[in-house]
Amino acid sequence: MDFRPDPGLDAFRQEVRHFLKERLPADLRVTPTFSRSKPQAVSRWQKILHAHGWGAPYWSQAHGGTGWTMQQILVFDEESVAAGAPTLDGMMHKLLGPVLNAFATPEQKAAHLPAFFNGERLWCQGFSEPGSGSDLASLRTRAELKHDEQGDHYIVNGQKIWTSHGHESDWIFLLVRTDASARKQAGITFLLADMKTPGITVRPIRSIDDAHHLNETFLDNVRVPVANRVGEEGQGWAITKFLLNNEHATTADLPMLKHYLRQLHELAETPCMGGVCLRERPEFALKLARLEAEVTAVGMFVQRVAALEMAHSPLAHPMGSMLKVRATELQQRITEAHVEALGDHGAVAYPHPAESAGDAPGSATCEPLPLQGLARGLANEMFFRRASTIYGGTSEVQRSIIAKLLFGL
Ligand SMILES: Cc1cc2nc3c(=O)[nH]c(=O)nc-3n(C[C@H](O)[C@H](O)[C@H](O)COP(=O)(O)OP(=O)(O)OC[C@H]3O[C@@H](n4cnc5c(N)ncnc54)[C@H](O)[C@@H]3O)c2cc1C
Repeated sequence: MDFRPDPGLDAFRQEVRHFLKERLPADLRVTPTFSRSKPQAVSRWQKILHAHGWGAPYWSQAHGGTGWTMQQILVFDEESVAAGAPTLDGMMHKLLGPVLNAFATPEQKAAHLPAFFNGERLWCQGFSEPGSGSDLASLRTRAELKHDEQGDHYIVNGQKIWTSHGHESDWIFLLVRTDASARKQAGITFLLADMKTPGITVRPIRSIDDAHHLNETFLDNVRVPVANRVGEEGQGWAITKFLLNNEHATTADLPMLKHYLRQLHELAETPCMGGVCLRERPEFALKLARLEAEVTAVGMFVQRVAALEMAHSPLAHPMGSMLKVRATELQQRITEAHVEALGDHGAVAYPHPAESAGDAPGSATCEPLPLQGLARGLANEMFFRRASTIYGGTSEVQRSIIAKLLFGL
C-alpha cells in the first residue's frame, strides 16, 4: 500500500472545512464524544447534510450516497469531529443502511430511506440478549407467524439488552428466532419494528459514566407485519454476518482517536501547579510520543483493512479483528492518559457538556486551574471507553478469530 499523503485530498479537506464553517449552526456544535448526539441535533444536522448532497457520506452513489473513497470519508469524519458537528446515527449510516441497500425490497427502501435521509427516523439495534452476546446465535426472542384478517404478521416475545439509544430511537432492527427446531444459526430472522408498537417497553441502564445511553428492551406480544422482514425467514444470520463485519471496522473510531490526541496535547501544554507543563516531563513526553505513533499506526491500519475489504480479500476479516483490538485498546489507554494528566482533577467527574452545563458536586474543593475547562467530559469518556473492548465483539472473541483465521489454531 502507498501511505504517502495524497495532495489531491487537500482540496477536498478545504471543501469540507468550508462547508462546516458555513453550514454547521453554532447551537449545534458539541464537544466531540463517542456517543450519538441528542435526537434533535442528529435530525437537524442530517437534514443539512442531505440538503447539501452529503446525506449518506459512507454509501456508494448507486444507493444515494456520496461515493467518497475511504480517504475522503476519513477526512470528512475527522473534520466533522474537529468542528464539533453532532455525532450522526451510526446505526443507520453504518450498520442497517448497508443491509437495506443489499437485502431490502423496493417497498422497504421506499418506507425507510427517505425518512433516514431527512433525519426523521433514528434507529437502534436489538441483537444482544441476557445470555446471548458473544454467542449471538443462541438468542431466544421468539417470533411466531400468524395469519388473520389484518394480514400476515409475527408475534414477538422476548428481551433484548444493551440497546444503545433505545429510549431515543424511532425504530429498531431485531434478530428473532422463527424456527426453534433448526440449527441455531438457521432459525434466525431479521425484522424491523416501530418502537411505538404496543408491547415494546424500554427501561434505562445507567452506565459507569453515570449517563443514560443503554437500555433493556422488553417485547411482549409485539405485532410486526411480515412486510417488515428483511430477507427470507431464516436468512437473519447471513444478514447479521454481513452487518457485523461493518461493525468491527467502524469501532476503530479513528477521528475520535485523533481528537483524544489533540486533547492530550492541550493538557500537556497547559501549565499546572508550579507553572510546569507536562510536556516538559520526559516520562510524560515519551508517553505522548508513543500514543501519537500508535494513533498514526491505527490510521494506516484502517486504510489497509479498507483496501482488503475493497479487494474482497479473505484477510479482511482477521485483519479487521486485529484493528478492532488495537484501536479499542488504544482508545482506553489514551483516555486513561487524559485522566492521569489531569492529576487531582482527574478524580472529579466533571460532567460532559452534552450531559450537563454545571460542574460536578464537590468540584469547588479543587483549586480552579486552566485544566478544569479541559477536564469536562474526560473522565466520562475514559469510563465509557471501558466498554469499547466489549461492544462490536469482545477482544477475547476477536483474538480467537485472529488465531483461527490467520494461524489456523
Ligand atoms: C456500551 C455497549 C453498547 C452496546 N450496544 C448494543 C446495542 O446497541 N445493541 C445490541 O444488540 N448490543 C449492544 N451491546 C452488547 C454487546 O454486543 C455485547 O455486550 C457483546 O457482544 C458481549 O456480549 P455479553 O455482554 O453478553 O458478554 P459475554 O458474551 O457473556 O462475554 C462475557 C466474557 O466472556 C468472554 N467470552 C465469551 N465468549 C468467549 C469465547 N468464545 N472465547 C473467549 N472468551 C469469551 C468475553 O470476551 C467476555 O469477557 C452493547 C454493549 C456495550 C457494552
